[in-house]
Amino acid sequence: MANKAYKFRIYPTKDQEQLIRKTFGCVRFVYNKMLAERKETYEQFKDDKYHISILTEYEHKPIPKEIKAIVGLDFAMDSLYVESEQGEKANHPRFFRQTQKKLAKEQKVLSRRTKGSARYEKQRIKVAALHERVANQRRDFLHKKSCQLASRYDCVVIEDLNMKGMSQSLHFGKSVADNGWGMFTTFLHYKLLEQGKHLVKINKWFPSTKTCSNCGHVKNVALSERLYSCECGFVRDRDWNAAINIKNEGKLMLALP
Ligand SMILES: [Zn+2]
Repeated sequence: MANKAYKFRIYPTKDQEQLIRKTFGCVRFVYNKMLAERKETYEQFKDDKYHISILTEYEHKPIPKEIKAIVGLDFAMDSLYVESEQGEKANHPRFFRQTQKKLAKEQKVLSRRTKGSARYEKQRIKVAALHERVANQRRDFLHKKSCQLASRYDCVVIEDLNMKGMSQSLHFGKSVADNGWGMFTTFLHYKLLEQGKHLVKINKWFPSTKTCSNCGHVKNVALSERLYSCECGFVRDRDWNAAINIKNEGKLMLALP
């Protein structure tokens, strides 16, 4: 048995809306503490949007797929990842970056408003709406990318990164958390699983950046070096080289030729 959750936006009539509001009110009264956080969101967005979530249970036993097409992904800070086959970067769409810029601008405006004033409230709602749009656009992008990979490949190899530890220790902070890598790998995992496909995580200490994917030579690579060039004559974009190493390490783990 497997579970699957669906979320839809619904468009209730005025009467239905009133009933929903009343029901929410009752529920909130009963589960006051539990819903404190939800309530805050509800009040912030005036909750003018309604979504319905459905959880289903169904018989599901995917037949494990033979691995023919395999890809390695190297986590990238500025985009999302670089893949091993063409060295392609998964770049966020332009409109996403535009919304992010807009959000930063409006947040700056908010910081100049006097807390509690009518203009502050108006701006706060504007910022909250932009936050929501950024989150929606990001989720949509992560769904698209994970869907493409899960349909194209039988196995995806990634590094087992500890994002929380990484953002703390390397002071990448916000950019790592916002990048969506964690959400992306979750999407990727279930999309592969439901087709009997595979997600392989390799050890995060594997020197994917330092190793030459052509001859196996290991050397130190400075952060500023964008190209990996080896004494064997091999030259490649550093992230692409890392993605190839990740793929090869995954193949080794699976004992694939
Ligand atoms: Zn080499």
